[in-house]
Amino acid sequence: EPEGRDFTGTDPRTVLKEVFGYDAFRGDQAAIVEHVVAGGDAVVLMPTGGGKSVTYQVPALVRPGTGLVVSPLIALMHDQVDALIANGVRAAYLNSTQAPAERQAVEQAYLAGRLDLIYVAPERLSSPQTTALLQRGRLSVIAIDEAHCVSQWGHDFRPDYLMLGDLAERFSGVPRMALTATATHATHTEITQRLDLPAAQHFVASFDRPNIQYRIEPKVDPRRQLVGFIRTMPAGSAGIVYALSRKSVEQMAEYLSAQGLDALPYHAGLDAGVRSRNQARFLREDGVIMVATIAFGMGIDKPDVRFVAHIDLPKSVEGYYQETGRAGRDGEPSIAWMVYGLGDVVQQRRMIDQSPGDRTYKTRLGQHLDAMLALCETVACRRQNLLGYFGQAAEPCGNCDTCLTPPETWDGLVPAQKLLSTIVRLQRERGQAYGAGQLIDILRGASTDRIRQLGHDKLATYGLGSDLSDQDWRSVVRQLLARGILVARGEYGTLALGDAGAGVLRGEEPVPLRRDVLGRSGGGSRVRK
Ligand code: ADP
Ligand code: ZN
Repeated sequence: EPEGRDFTGTDPRTVLKEVFGYDAFRGDQAAIVEHVVAGGDAVVLMPTGGGKSVTYQVPALVRPGTGLVVSPLIALMHDQVDALIANGVRAAYLNSTQAPAERQAVEQAYLAGRLDLIYVAPERLSSPQTTALLQRGRLSVIAIDEAHCVSQWGHDFRPDYLMLGDLAERFSGVPRMALTATATHATHTEITQRLDLPAAQHFVASFDRPNIQYRIEPKVDPRRQLVGFIRTMPAGSAGIVYALSRKSVEQMAEYLSAQGLDALPYHAGLDAGVRSRNQARFLREDGVIMVATIAFGMGIDKPDVRFVAHIDLPKSVEGYYQETGRAGRDGEPSIAWMVYGLGDVVQQRRMIDQSPGDRTYKTRLGQHLDAMLALCETVACRRQNLLGYFGQAAEPCGNCDTCLTPPETWDGLVPAQKLLSTIVRLQRERGQAYGAGQLIDILRGASTDRIRQLGHDKLATYGLGSDLSDQDWRSVVRQLLARGILVARGEYGTLALGDAGAGVLRGEEPVPLRRDVLGRSGGGSRVRK
């Protein structure tokens, strides 16, 4: 049983100093703590690293009873609780990985009023036994961490969170807090409704992370590009590299290691022992690079992560923001670096097409992806785009790639028209639809077997686009996809005209495109495989 002082009734600032070692509250922390200590409900939207934890930990210590923390991260509870115990906080957790004797000890301590904080996974909280147990003791506050998991539209939906809507009935009179680093208007509204917090005070912090520099590049040769980027960082910089699949995680970790970098893999398919060993090395040692799927990172508190790199396009801006937010929690300059390409877009559209949800659901996912692409293809400030997505106005930041090196634009109307008319002709004259590869071969006048067999060298647009390289065309396609001028359909990502396609075909819409996403003006030699 954890030991420690009883801080009930102590001044919050004293607790902050004596337990956590901080001299002062930061930002909204003081106001949140004051509101909750007085018994109010709160919805707290604060970016990763903003300091959400103390906003429920301090009230839990100060108010009589035990603070209940609902957290989806069973894997991290252990570490979080250990850290609290090390600070002299009487903390414990209840989860499914626990031995019965250990669980009983925690229950006894809770019932005897000798716990300040108890961490519980949402699935455990949905069991009547756990509710009955908690009702027999005294709760001081209920904190629902990662509250965006209740959003069915979000990127992290967890069905167990839906069961948290009746906590007010189960534990009446206990102040409740919902905390998240996701802040779109839609998620915010959904959290408030589904977690039944109509009377809560809302604390919305600025989502800007000024010390993070955003950089996004077209994907040409991700391995080489990533190593090139990492080599621009001071030697021994800790970082996280996110990839979409387990396989690419493993391959990239191996590749980086072969390049002499201290890289480790992390994904849900790895042996639990390997996973926790790798995580421990990343947290405790300097300069480890974790190559991971998004299974890694939620709740990880490593202040000096100097870069977060994405080698695959995240599924949503919310996801991107959360993942990049793990860089620079210490406030020191850090970089969020990403490469993305046509393959990402096509693959994700396909995954959306094949996902089990209904049309509305798929449309929502498609909108998430489009917003992410709009961020990639913007000719304006990345941060402005990002904060705008979260409903916050901002000036151009001076600390992102588009601010530092304003992208040149060029008029892509004519190439767009060539591509669109190829699509329209194939469809009208032959009832055929193709993916980007074949269309680009046609436009570039390639003489492949497939072109000859299909008679595509007889099309009026055959060879009309030989002025652009294959890479350039892929960039054009990508940008047209991002703007809804083109849409990719079905298993093969066949291209068709999107809503904005007709206007372009008629020449009514200018098509300014980023020049720097074109391979030929990227500078240096291009390595293609
Ligand atoms: P979040 O949960 O919002 O991502 P944390 O609660 O983990 O953020 O806090 C982020 C970092 O800020 C941690 O390293 C924490 O120790 C530090 N921190 C939080 N509050 C304060 C404070 N008032 N003064 C100094 N450091 C703080
Ligand atoms: Zn900027």
